[in-house]
Amino acid sequence: MEISELVASKVLDVPDFPKPGVLFKDLMPLFADGTAFAAAVDAIIAEQGAGSFDVVAGIEARGFVVAAAVAYATGKGVVPIRKAGKLPRKTVTASYALEYGEAVIEVHADAFMAGERVLVVDDVLATGGTAAATLDLVERAGGRVSGFSVLLELAFLAGREKLAPRPVHALLTV
Ligand code: AMP
Repeated sequence: MEISELVASKVLDVPDFPKPGVLFKDLMPLFADGTAFAAAVDAIIAEQGAGSFDVVAGIEARGFVVAAAVAYATGKGVVPIRKAGKLPRKTVTASYALEYGEAVIEVHADAFMAGERVLVVDDVLATGGTAAATLDLVERAGGRVSGFSVLLELAFLAGREKLAPRPVHALLTV
């Protein structure tokens, strides 16, 4: 089975979550299936190349699941990109606009060595606001973004355009 078909078979559409009008893509069935999850993690590593990054950054919270697995499988470390106020030491911060209000994300200021190659991962790419802020944050914290991978991309929200010219790898685009 193609990896895109496998991901498609393991995503549940949840209408009106977390608010009316949003079709939430729930990837918990993929995480819960050991064979499918391993195939997804392996596909991300194959697309990016195991030698192309030094560390894996995951976006809170479902990105942590993907990041930890990719990091473990490649013998790399994992760095969490967190919502504001969760990290205990000095941080670098990025804020970005949401539909209503703004969101703030952070990473520890000493998370990356200068020029370290960072693979950024998340579960879903929607509008791309979170990803764009994360890539900027990683570079302001001294890392160098080597790639960005998601399990699923919502093409109609054009997140990919917000990240251009950086390439986006998605196992499934809908
Ligand atoms: P965005 O900044 O709009 O690209 O949103 C990306 C973040 O929100 C990711 O961390 C996703 O996990 C989550 N997200 C946004 N929209 C959805 C959706 N329709 N289904 C599942 N997760 C979503």
